[in-house]
Amino acid sequence: MSKNSNLSVGDAQACVLRYAAPGAVEEVPIERALGRVLAEDVHANRDQPPCDVSAMDGFAVRAADLAAGGAVLTIVEDIKAGDRPRHAVASGECARIMTGAPVPAGADAVIRVEDTAQLTDDTVEIALPVKPGNDIRVRGENMRRGEVVLTRGTEITPGVIGVLATAKRARLPVYGRPRVAILSTGDELEAIEDPFDAERIPESNSYALMAQIQALGIEPVRLGIARDEPDELARYLRQGLEYDVLLVSGGSSVGVHDHVRPTLAALDVEMHFWRVEMKPGHPLAFGTRGGRLVFGLPGNPVSSMICFEQFVLPALRRRMGHAKLFRRAVAATLAQPVRHQPGRAEFVRVTLSADAAGGLHARATGPQSSGNLASMARADGLLVVPQDSEGLAAGAAVQVQLFDASVFQEVSGFMEAAP
Ligand code: AMP
Ligand code: MG
Repeated sequence: MSKNSNLSVGDAQACVLRYAAPGAVEEVPIERALGRVLAEDVHANRDQPPCDVSAMDGFAVRAADLAAGGAVLTIVEDIKAGDRPRHAVASGECARIMTGAPVPAGADAVIRVEDTAQLTDDTVEIALPVKPGNDIRVRGENMRRGEVVLTRGTEITPGVIGVLATAKRARLPVYGRPRVAILSTGDELEAIEDPFDAERIPESNSYALMAQIQALGIEPVRLGIARDEPDELARYLRQGLEYDVLLVSGGSSVGVHDHVRPTLAALDVEMHFWRVEMKPGHPLAFGTRGGRLVFGLPGNPVSSMICFEQFVLPALRRRMGHAKLFRRAVAATLAQPVRHQPGRAEFVRVTLSADAAGGLHARATGPQSSGNLASMARADGLLVVPQDSEGLAAGAAVQVQLFDASVFQEVSGFMEAAP
C-alpha cells in the first residue's frame, strides 16, 4: 500500500480517473436514451432541409422584379409544405408559398404575407424591395448528409434526442451504467428500520450516498451494515466486490476497530492511496481489483458526501462515458471571512445569493463540523479554499462548485489538465 504522504485533491482525482475507464457499450431505443452518453459519432443521413424552402408564409418572388421599390405580381400557383412546385416563376410572377414548402425555380426570395397586399384572386402588391435569399432556408443548412452531427461522449439531452430523431436513429449505442454497491460499517450504527435507541448513531450515509448516485441516473444497491469485526466485514466486502464500484462508509481511519483497509487488502484489492490533503474527508482510501473500483469513504456524514463529490462522482461519470466529469464551478464573492491554515484544501458548504448586478455572494451554511449534515442539506454548493490559502477575507473572490445536477465541466480546478 502506498504511503502517499501529502496527496493533493488533484493528484488523488487523477489517480482515481486513471482506473475509471468507460464501461461496455449497449444499445437502447431512442425512447429510453435520455441521460445516457453516446458511444459513437452520429452522422446525418440526409440534407436538412432537403431543398431550398420558405421560412415564412408569404410569396416566392424574383428579387430583381422589386428592385425599383416594389411591384404588382401575378400569382401563378400555391405551394404547401410537401408539394412540388409545377411552375417556374418568370419575371412579373410570384407563387404563394407556405412555411417549409420548396422554393420554385426562378424565385430567389420570399416576402412574408404581412408585407404584402392581395389585390385580386391572382395579383398581389408588394411595396418594398427585397434581397436575394430573403427568408429562404437553403438546402442542407441545418445538416448535410454524411457530416458528424453528434460526437461520441455527448450526453443525451432533449435537444440531442431531437437531432437523433432527425437522423432517423431509432436505436443507439450508449455506454453502460456501472453497477454500484454501498456498504456501511460500524458497531454503533442504528439502521432506519431498527427500534429507536438514544445511545446509538442513526445510519444515514448509505441513504445520502444512494441519493448522490441516483442523481447521476444510477440505481445503487445498499448491502446493509457490517459490524466492526473482520470476518463479518470480509463477508460483506466479498459481496460488494461483485459490483463495478463499491463504496464502503466508515472504518477507513486509524482507530483499532477500523478494519476496512486491511480486510480489502486481504481480498486482493490493490490499495492506491489513503488520506488526501482535504478537509473534511482526509481519511479517504481508494483501491481496485481488476476493473472494479473500491472507495473507503470516511464515516463522518459530511466527509462521506464531500469525498463522493470530489472522487466518486467524476469516476462514475467517466464510467458512464461522459466528457464533462466535474461539477461546474462559478466565481463568487465571499460574504464573510473564512479562517484557514495552509496544508489542506477545504470545502465550505455555502448558499449563494445574487445581487442586483447578477454577482454571486457566498455565505457559509452555519456550523461546518463534519458531523453536521444540516450544513449540506442547506447548501447550494461547496466553496473551495485552496490548499495553500492562509485564510480568506470578506469580499475575496472564490470558486463555488454548484450542487446543480444538470451542469458539469471538463476541468476539475484541482488537476493540472483535463483527464
Ligand atoms: P469512522 O470513519 O468509522 O471512524 O466513523 C466516523 C464517524 O462517522 C463516527 O462518529 C460514526 O458514528 C459516524 N458514522 C460512520 N458511519 C456512519 C453512517 N453510515 N451513518 C452515519 N454516521 C456514520
Ligand atoms: Mg466506524
